[in-house]
Amino acid sequence: MTPESTLRADIVEVGRRMYARGYTASNDGNISVRLGSDRLVMTPKSVCKGFMTPDMMCITDLDGKKLQGDRDPSSEMLMHLEVYRQRPDVQAVVHAHPPTATGFAVAGIPLDRAVLAEVIATLGSIPIAEYATPSTRELPDAVRKYIKAHDGMLLANHGALTVGADLYAAYYKMETIEHFAKISLVARLLGGENLISRDEVLRLQELRGTYGIKAPAPICADPSTFLGAGGSTEGGAGDLTDPATCQVVQAPAGGGARLVPNAVQRAVEAARHNAEGEIRLTYRELSALIEDAIRSLR
Ligand SMILES: [Zn+2]
Repeated sequence: MTPESTLRADIVEVGRRMYARGYTASNDGNISVRLGSDRLVMTPKSVCKGFMTPDMMCITDLDGKKLQGDRDPSSEMLMHLEVYRQRPDVQAVVHAHPPTATGFAVAGIPLDRAVLAEVIATLGSIPIAEYATPSTRELPDAVRKYIKAHDGMLLANHGALTVGADLYAAYYKMETIEHFAKISLVARLLGGENLISRDEVLRLQELRGTYGIKAPAPICADPSTFLGAGGSTEGGAGDLTDPATCQVVQAPAGGGARLVPNAVQRAVEAARHNAEGEIRLTYRELSALIEDAIRSLR
């Protein structure tokens, strides 16, 4: 068991990094870590995560009863307790409001496209948990839907949540989500992402084992490949093949494809150059356009 003093110091360090990187403003965000099998070390309510000291932390049991500490535990304690309840394998929980990822959460756009190999392998798809009033019972209820299958998610109109086998693993996933959100935003400003193909996504799913990645979420869009492919369900995490609780990566079958905005842009450009001035779309571009329109309606 990691000594309590080390866990307290690690929380201080991760809080300092989150604040320094702008993932939290003012007193936002919260962090917790398992202490042995039946207790948690948790950040206290109403402190800036950039200026914490080890003695500020609260010790609670797994029902949230404060066992030690001068301050009250985080206002989002219920969300943390729910994660530990649902995921016996998880040792640490990090919640922050990184601005670009939170922008996606506010716009209602999940980070679910097959774009970067390391994101696919470590996190798979990053869904959005439904909006819930912060600090109320609603938030753990919203998080419960996806947490069995996902190590990271966006919280609608709020922020992001990550979990891991230790505190730094959970924190690095927060970094990965924000980094991925920034790259996705830039790619969309530049005309849209080129997606990695479904075959390649499957290959990455197989490589998870080689890299020692124990992410629970299946990442492939083909449900028949869910079982037995990197889907570690230690602790009985439930049915990860249920599409209602597991969001898979959007990857095109066959070769990689550029998403709609660029297909349309290309067609418009082509129209400018042809004598009739008409917009021509290939069957594939048209299909992608329709699929994207349907998705945006959901
Ligand atoms: Zn928050």
